[in-house]
Amino acid sequence: MLRGLAQLIKRNNPLINNILNNQKVTMSFQKHSRRIEGLDKNVWVEFTQLAAEYAVVNLGQGFPDFSPPNFVKEAYTRAINGDLNQYTRAFGHPPLVKILAKFFGKLMNRDIDPFNEILVTVGAYEALFCFFQAVIDDGDEVIIIEPYFDCYEPMVRMAGGKPVFISLRPKPASGRLMTSADWILDPVELANKFNKGTKAIVINTPNNPLGKVFNREELQVIANLCIEHNVLCISDEVYEWLVYDGNEHVRIASLPGMWERTITVGSAGKSFSATGWKQAVAEGFEREFEHLGTPESYFICLRKELQVKRDRLAACLASVGLKPVISEGGYYLAADISEIDVDLPESTETNEPYDYRFVRWLMINKGLATIPMSAFYSSESKNNNKNFIRFCFVKENTTLSKAEEILKEWRRTLKVQ
Ligand code: GLN
Repeated sequence: MLRGLAQLIKRNNPLINNILNNQKVTMSFQKHSRRIEGLDKNVWVEFTQLAAEYAVVNLGQGFPDFSPPNFVKEAYTRAINGDLNQYTRAFGHPPLVKILAKFFGKLMNRDIDPFNEILVTVGAYEALFCFFQAVIDDGDEVIIIEPYFDCYEPMVRMAGGKPVFISLRPKPASGRLMTSADWILDPVELANKFNKGTKAIVINTPNNPLGKVFNREELQVIANLCIEHNVLCISDEVYEWLVYDGNEHVRIASLPGMWERTITVGSAGKSFSATGWKQAVAEGFEREFEHLGTPESYFICLRKELQVKRDRLAACLASVGLKPVISEGGYYLAADISEIDVDLPESTETNEPYDYRFVRWLMINKGLATIPMSAFYSSESKNNNKNFIRFCFVKENTTLSKAEEILKEWRRTLKVQ
């Protein structure tokens, strides 16, 4: 997708065009924030790009060059053909969190609550990012075991935390080849890394890049320290199914006292050999690129269709006294509710803005869902911006007809000031 997007931007923006041609991914026209200092490059950006240009055989970035199994490809196709294209529950599609709870509950021999203990993110990167953002305050220490997957460090820093490193040290393997099991943590050195400022430790098993599979005893040492010092553990287990030579993948969250303090990160992309599914829209952009500015462009057709819907909804709102603000873009319409006289029930929440109460009333009593506009204002300004509600018009005509019926039916009983 980025490639398609880059082409799209390049065409229209000489400044970005220059930047892209110079291979700089910096924002030369604007000073970047302190948070992203040191994040201007990473090994993947640099070498994946080089590999795309030069490599005949690419054994660099870790991704399968074979297909995912048919059963998951078929499920993907079914999902698309079955029109599973719109928002689902924000924390995870219910059938997905349910099967994850059942599956991992069985492996870890515990009841997992699919709706409170599982979060679906866009890749393990997002899970890691959310974790650090959610738990790290300025100056909190986070123990990271070297060698480590490179993103942990900048993510900790970006959250304001201080990475504290400890290395796996190879012990001599006399007379045989070394294995990743020969790389071990010194328990005393590890214990010394924990102190009052330690907030979390990151573990990665099987580890990237070594492939070390932490055994139960090693994990128990880490777990004991976490419990003793009240430290959280983020356990990156994206390679959990790739364990060789009869080794056992042990989940640190399954050790006594660890469930409550562990975030375990898995990866569908890694588990099903489909690391690229995040990029499924690339073809859409390629196609649009070919038709840019022509009547065949989906972007243009959609815009035309939506304008008709906007006008239709606006007319209907005006006719019932909900004065619309005709939108110039997007797929929303604001409407003024100040002239509508309804007896709203008192809110159970203190200081709840009027538009929230109105929206709740409209939903419960008329069956029509909208969004209060004050939700889009800071807490200081909410109460000065409580007279609008937002309608979304990117809907089938049948849906708009139903909304119109509700509004017109309501109009008969409505007192407009
Ligand atoms: N996890 C993969 C690897 O280690 C890909 C990393 C990436 O592209 N950011 O090679």
